[in-house]
Amino acid sequence: MSIGIWVLGDQLWTEQAALKSCEPKRSNTPVILIESLYYAKQRHYHRQKLVLIWSAMRHFAKELRDRGWSVTYEIADDFEVPLKAWVKTNNITELRVMAPNDRPFAQMIESLSLSCKITLVHNNHFLWSKEDFQEWAKSQKSLLLENFYREGRRRFDVLIEGNKPVGGQWNFDKQNRKPPKGKLNTPDALWFEPDRTTQAVIDWVKSQDFPAYGEVEPFRWAVTRQQALQVLDFFIQYRLPNFGPYQDAMLTGEETMWHSMLSPYLNIGLLQPEDAIAKVQKAYYEKKLDLTSVEGFIRQVLGWREYMHGVYHYVDNDYGKRNWFNHTQPLPQFYWDAEKTDMNCLRQILMQVQRIGYAHHIQRLMVLNNFALIAGISPFELEEWFHAAFIDAYDWVMQTNVIGMGQFADGGILASKPYAASANYINKMSDYCGSCVYKQQERTGEQACPFNFFYWDFLARHRDQLKSQGRMSLTLRHLERLSPEELKKIRQEAIEWHAKISAKV
Ligand code: FAD
Ligand code: SF4
Repeated sequence: MSIGIWVLGDQLWTEQAALKSCEPKRSNTPVILIESLYYAKQRHYHRQKLVLIWSAMRHFAKELRDRGWSVTYEIADDFEVPLKAWVKTNNITELRVMAPNDRPFAQMIESLSLSCKITLVHNNHFLWSKEDFQEWAKSQKSLLLENFYREGRRRFDVLIEGNKPVGGQWNFDKQNRKPPKGKLNTPDALWFEPDRTTQAVIDWVKSQDFPAYGEVEPFRWAVTRQQALQVLDFFIQYRLPNFGPYQDAMLTGEETMWHSMLSPYLNIGLLQPEDAIAKVQKAYYEKKLDLTSVEGFIRQVLGWREYMHGVYHYVDNDYGKRNWFNHTQPLPQFYWDAEKTDMNCLRQILMQVQRIGYAHHIQRLMVLNNFALIAGISPFELEEWFHAAFIDAYDWVMQTNVIGMGQFADGGILASKPYAASANYINKMSDYCGSCVYKQQERTGEQACPFNFFYWDFLARHRDQLKSQGRMSLTLRHLERLSPEELKKIRQEAIEWHAKISAKV
C-alpha cells in the first residue's frame, strides 16, 4: 500500500493529523498542495486573502521539503486533474487528507473520482473535537457560551487554581466595555514587508481577472508560522495589557486598536489555539498582567472560537439557509464600495475592510452586521459579502457568526437575543458620529441617523416574534413609549431609504 497526503490551504502546520500519521515515513510519503483557481473564479474573495493563502502554502511547501518530505506543488484550474495525475505517477493507493473544517469542502472531496481510496483523518485543528462538543451539547438545555467556556477552562486547565477560576470570577466582561474617551495611545501593529515569494503571488493576483474584492497592496500580513509567532509575541508584549478594557471601542483611523490580529493565522494553521492560550497564560503568571485583559482574550480563543466551530458541526446542514425574521432586502451596493455611503461609521469601517480585509469584532458585529439586521437585509447576501470581504473568512466561522450571532437568523440557537442597536451605542463606543452628516440623536427627519429609524422599525416590525425572547422585554417596553404617529413616520423613513438606495443602483 502506498499512501499520499493532500494538504489543504487551511491546514498549514507540520503536526496536522494527516502529516503526523505518516511522520516516521516522511521521506517515502508523497505530499501534494494545490492552488486551485476554481474557487477564486467562482466567488469573490478579498485579494489579500488570496495572497495570504497562496503565499502561506508556497512557504509551507518549502518548509516540508526542508524537513525531508517529498512535495509536489500544483497550480491548476481544479483539484481533480492534478490529483489524478499525481496519484498515478506515485502509484498511490490511499489518499490521506485531514478532514476539512468546512462542510462544502468535505462534500467536494467526497465527490472526487480518483482511482485510490480516500481517507479523511480526524481533524486536530481545535481543542474540542466535533464529538466532544456534541457530547457536551447533548448534556445541556441550551447552548450557552458561558457554560461551554467554563467547561473549557476546567477541561484544559486554563486560568484555574484548585478547580476555581483564577481571581475568583469566571469573566470580567463588564469591565471590558470602556468607551474610547480622552487620549488613547493605541499601539502599533506588527506588519511585514512581502518577500520574493509573496511578491510573486501579489503580482500573479494583480494580473488575473478574478471577481475579487479589496485592495491587494500594501500586503503586510504574516505568511509563515515563524512570522505568526512574532505577531503573537508582539501582541502579548504591547497589546494584551490593554486588550480587555477597550475591546469594544472604535476610533477613526485606528484599524486594530489592542486586538490581536491572530485570526488569519489561527484559521489556516500557522498558529494553534494552544500556542496562543499557553503563551498568554504564561505571560499572566510571569509578568503579572491584568486579569481582565488576559481572561478577556482567553474567552475569545478558548470560548468563542471553539464554540463557533462546535456549533457549526452540531447544527443541521441547512443552518446557513435559516432566516428567522424573513429578511429579504438586497444588500446595499455600498457594502461593496465604501465611497457610496455617507454614513460615517459604515464608510470608515468599509474603507478599512477594502484596504486590509480586517475589522475588529465590534466593528463587524455592531456596525456592519447591526445595520444589515435592523434594515432587514437578506442574511444570505450579507454572509456572501462577509465571506468575500474578510481575510479570515471560512464557512465554519462565517455561518455561525453571521447567520447565528449577527443576524439571529437561527431564531436563537446561538445568541440569547439579537445584537440590534441604534446610533446611541455607536456614539457611545466610537468617535464616528462627531463627523457624520447625520444626527445621531434624531429618529426622524432630514438628518435623522438611519441606525435610529431602522432600529425602532426593526423592533416594531418584529414585536411579536421578539416577545418570545425573554431578554428583549425591557427593550420592547421602550418601544411602547413611541406614539403610533411617530412609528408611522419611522416606517415611512425606512421604506423611503430602501427606495432611494435601490434607485441609485
Ligand atoms: P481578537 O479580538 O484579538 O480575538 C482573539 C481571537 O479570538 C481571534 O483571533 C479569533 O480567533 C477568536 N475569536 C473571537 N471571537 C470569535 C468569534 N465570534 N468566532 C470565532 N473566533 C473568535 N472570525 C473569523 O475568524 N473569521 C470570520 O470570518 C469572522 N467573521 C465574523 C463576522 C461577524 C459578523 C462577527 C460578529 C464576527 C466574526 N468573526 C470572525 C469573529 C471575530 O470578529 C474575529 O475572529 C476577530 O475580530 C478577529 O480579529 P482578532 O484576531 O484581532 O481578534
Ligand atoms: Fe453612524 Fe449614525 Fe453615527 Fe453617522 S450618526 S456615524 S450614521 S451612527
